[in-house]
Amino acid sequence: MSRITAVEPIVVRRKLARPFYFSQWEQHERAVCLVKVTTDDGLYGWGEGYGPADVVAAGIRFLTPFVLGENPLHNAAVWQTLYRRSLDYARRGVLVSALSAIDIALWDLKGKLLGQPVSVLLGGPRRASVAVYATGLYFTHTPDLPGALAAEAVTYAEQGFSAIKMKVGLGLAADVANVRAVRAVLGPGIQLMIDANHAYSRSEALALARAVEDQTIGWFEEPVSPEDYEGYAELRLRTSIPIAGGECEALCAGFRHLATQHCVDIAQPDLGMAGGLTEGQRIAALMQTFGANVTPHCWGTGIAFAAALHFAATLEMIPGRLMAAEPLLEMDRSENPLRDELATPRFVPRAGRVAVPTAPGLGVDVDPAALAAFA
Ligand code: CA
Repeated sequence: MSRITAVEPIVVRRKLARPFYFSQWEQHERAVCLVKVTTDDGLYGWGEGYGPADVVAAGIRFLTPFVLGENPLHNAAVWQTLYRRSLDYARRGVLVSALSAIDIALWDLKGKLLGQPVSVLLGGPRRASVAVYATGLYFTHTPDLPGALAAEAVTYAEQGFSAIKMKVGLGLAADVANVRAVRAVLGPGIQLMIDANHAYSRSEALALARAVEDQTIGWFEEPVSPEDYEGYAELRLRTSIPIAGGECEALCAGFRHLATQHCVDIAQPDLGMAGGLTEGQRIAALMQTFGANVTPHCWGTGIAFAAALHFAATLEMIPGRLMAAEPLLEMDRSENPLRDELATPRFVPRAGRVAVPTAPGLGVDVDPAALAAFA
């Protein structure tokens, strides 16, 4: 029987060549906390937490004593222990990210021990490749922001993406100009989503929704504060644009509010913060029971993307039908050397899809040279 002998948080970071901003702050650096969990038979699994990297690392160090000596095949049992040990301090928040990172690493290990990809362990993939959308179109300091965004959008279309998400949250006039510029160059054949990162009040969000409804928007993501569940529910009834959210939410206990108050059409748990793959499956069941579809939020390295990819491969859209839509997985295209260089093999979208790894576990490893360069 396999036993866990080491849990190692590793913070990687890199300054950006071209800083960008969104509705909340400027991004000058990408930093991520990975975790490597090793067993006495020499195997290891990789996980990744979402959130302030140094704080996630401290959380992992706090949880480590409750993981050492455990059997990685008992991943859901270990999850229960970590949940109980963190509950008093972190009903949501960065300690849950630490739990999530460890959980993902245990799934990777479990797959390697059983010789199966994580998508099979999760119950089996519904599809061999997952449709992805490009996340980009952040703001940069340029005299012609609508023109710059339109030009960037064209590059994603040329790369084969059939769905693209852009940032809003600069104010009604600027947002409408940007959305119209991007829609104009994309034409009607490409899905376009907007993401405010909770920049707006209810009335501001409603005004923006009404102003861009004629632009055929796939979804309006995080229109209002993640604390304003009533605002989500109200907006959802007053616009024809589907409402998405949930990347700031953790655990079923958090998603319960989005579910029972019918806040979203699309729930977006980040597996590296919402409770890992173990809780991710429960969150999907909860949200779908209340009529919302699920597609993971993903803004990390290839480790986080691999976990989300296996997970998305198993998701079924509700209601099911013969000519069913597919879940769209987020594929961040903004500058991130950690995402591009750390994990191998690298994920490359082809015609707007990414193949689900078939190797045991997550099917990705960390390049030691890149790790040394970023750590
Ligand atoms: Ca978002």
